[in-house]
Amino acid sequence: MFDTAIAGSLPKPAWLAETGKLWPKWQADGADLAQAKLDATLLWIKAQEDAGLSVIGDGEQSRQHFVHGFLEQVAGIDFEHKVEMGIRNDRSKAMVPQGVAAPSLTGRVHAAEARFLRAHTTHRIKFTLPGPMTIVDTVADRFYGDKVKLAFAFAELLNQEALALQADGVDIIQFDEPAFNVYMAEAADWGVKALERAAQGLHEAGAASGRPCRTAVHICYGYGIAANIAWKKTLGEQWRQYEQVFPALAASSIDQVSLECIHSQVPAELMALLAGKDVMVGVIDVASDQVETPEEVADTIARALQFVPKERLIACTNCGLAPMSRAVAEAKLAALAQGAALARRRHGVT
Ligand code: ZN
Repeated sequence: MFDTAIAGSLPKPAWLAETGKLWPKWQADGADLAQAKLDATLLWIKAQEDAGLSVIGDGEQSRQHFVHGFLEQVAGIDFEHKVEMGIRNDRSKAMVPQGVAAPSLTGRVHAAEARFLRAHTTHRIKFTLPGPMTIVDTVADRFYGDKVKLAFAFAELLNQEALALQADGVDIIQFDEPAFNVYMAEAADWGVKALERAAQGLHEAGAASGRPCRTAVHICYGYGIAANIAWKKTLGEQWRQYEQVFPALAASSIDQVSLECIHSQVPAELMALLAGKDVMVGVIDVASDQVETPEEVADTIARALQFVPKERLIACTNCGLAPMSRAVAEAKLAALAQGAALARRRHGVT
């Protein structure tokens, strides 16, 4: 009961990449960089296990950014000529690559780190991919001129990689869709369908191989960076973005939904819209260096339990921890595990 997992990213060690940045420069290249990425992955596997988490991830140590890490292996994307573009409805500016042709995969994207993760832990493992709608919102399209067509083109590529990750031994494949919280009507209209296309066949592949594969979506209010903190101040006393998207997700084939809870203005009752889904409740704030106490974590779990059945609650972080300091991230992992343990004792589940 009360599995514990991170949303996805963890800080990169200073010897791997610049610290404290969302698009950090690597500190090595070629074979040295490939080795350094796996070394950092091993470090975080151990740190997550030591903290006591039950579901382990690779901490996204092998990708510079959660969207562009995937796009780097896509033909038809021009990384040589990046352009500045407003992303998430112009909330922040980013240097993004251009889509100049119909996209196709040049090969496997995450085989090295996924197999490495599988080889170095006996826990269940979760692997993250960007969702189709969020990819579309983080690339400058010069080819399709149609967001929906572009999203479904990427969904097919994501599906190829997701099926390969399942074959690598990944237990949970999570698609990150922060864009769902920005373009709510479009998310409910076609974003969830594109997501289902990306996840198509994963259950069947898992059943056939004897290793059930779960599918997840992470929807957040973003990393704890200044642009996001300023945006959240404009959202009013109640953040009800989830209300528009959750019914479409509840009706979808996706198994798990990851959402923000602690220190956010999301009304807890919106979780009731996810009946039938596992709910990854954010009990760790990624926009503050203040480390949660186990009591705060357990209190947040208790609040969610008013609307989520015990057996469906997974304790998680609000979002990724990439831009944080390593020491703070390690302390927050421990708080997550200790808080979930306290909640198990409080609610009489083991
Ligand atoms: Zn997030």
